Amino acid sequence: MANNFPILVDRINRDGKSLPGGILKVDGFINHQLDPQLLYAMSEEFMRRFDPNSYNKILTIEASGIAPAVVLGYLAHKNVVFAKKKKPSTMDNTLVTEVFSFTKNTTYQICCSAEFLTKDDKVLFIDDFLANGKAAAGVQDLIAQAGAELVGMGFLIEKSFQNGGQMLRDQGIHVESLATIASLDDCKITFA
Ligand code: 5GP
Repeated sequence: MANNFPILVDRINRDGKSLPGGILKVDGFINHQLDPQLLYAMSEEFMRRFDPNSYNKILTIEASGIAPAVVLGYLAHKNVVFAKKKKPSTMDNTLVTEVFSFTKNTTYQICCSAEFLTKDDKVLFIDDFLANGKAAAGVQDLIAQAGAELVGMGFLIEKSFQNGGQMLRDQGIHVESLATIASLDDCKITFA
């Protein structure tokens, strides 16, 4: 049963655009222009849904996960690590994995220094969208390589007509999505 956060639902209804191919465009408040008041409200909601005592670190993926992760990290007093999409030449001791992107139809690498993700970490993963769960699976791989523990995964928007949410919940992972979209058919946004 979806637990939709009304402030985000209202904003998606007002400013989100459903594009052909099941893509939701939220450039005006999540993916390009950012709304700090909305980010703050969403992070407060994540504070309610994930006990800050259960994790010591927030992990996200650049670029769009960084803003919500940092605002939550500020409220929860936790460091935030973002997986990079390009390995810097200065980074050694790196954890690397591959992610397939359906929206871009390409495979890309994400990496993280083993210095900032270790066996002592209890990790909360935060990202903008959950669709087929490929980015989330890549992050699970990085966490496994580090020997860290995954505590939960929080997404701003889940598209429940794709199978990522089911795949993660079937593994017993604590998944929270602030807005769950059941359909984008006929370019109409229908919430779960
Ligand atoms: P997944 O790995 O779960 O298949 O897809 C998640 C990633 O794809 C997100 O981090 C996001 O960057 C991108 N993505 C998937 N669906 C959408 C969408 O409908 N709109 C936007 N803006 N990004 C999406």
